[in-house]
Amino acid sequence: PIADISIKDIDKVASSSFPLCMRHLFEKLREDHHLKHGGRMQLGLFLKGVGLNLDDALAFWKAEFSQKVGAERFDKEYAYSIRHNYGKEGKRTDYTPFSCQKIISSTPGVGDHHGCPYRHFSEENLRAVLGKMGVGGHIVKDVMDKVQNRHYQLACTLTFEAVHGCSCDAGINHPNQYFSDSQKILQ
Ligand code: SF4
Repeated sequence: PIADISIKDIDKVASSSFPLCMRHLFEKLREDHHLKHGGRMQLGLFLKGVGLNLDDALAFWKAEFSQKVGAERFDKEYAYSIRHNYGKEGKRTDYTPFSCQKIISSTPGVGDHHGCPYRHFSEENLRAVLGKMGVGGHIVKDVMDKVQNRHYQLACTLTFEAVHGCSCDAGINHPNQYFSDSQKILQ
């Protein structure tokens, strides 16, 4: 990571530098104080990739989940999987964050919020969330053209360029690359 992030910076960097897939999970977590397994994996490993350390990750997830299920149930049922993501449980595999390809090919079910919004959102929802990111006008039309042609990562690249006001010649192939390229521009 470029610079490790801590909990106090997380809302700021989420709105400035998270790609749409992670913004959506982050917002849903803040809203519902809960995410299902697929969302916890996708967002949790991304946050690990941007440099949130294990103690901060546990505190971050606990602050949300305890509002829904209580602190005790969090410690009993959910803390394990966060430590597991960091290679501290089970086979002690140091799991790596998911690539765009993996996220795009996932199959979110009802109540899931993981996946790639360019691939998995309805056109109406996608337009709405792009609007919330400040992306409008002809850019939305260009993004939708890419989506219709199943070029989801190109749609994400166009969004990146619109949000940051500069070109991204390498294209987007990983949510953590989106994040680090964004931070490079903003810092
Ligand atoms: Fe996330 Fe990649 Fe989809 Fe962009 S293209 S929203 S980074 S999965």
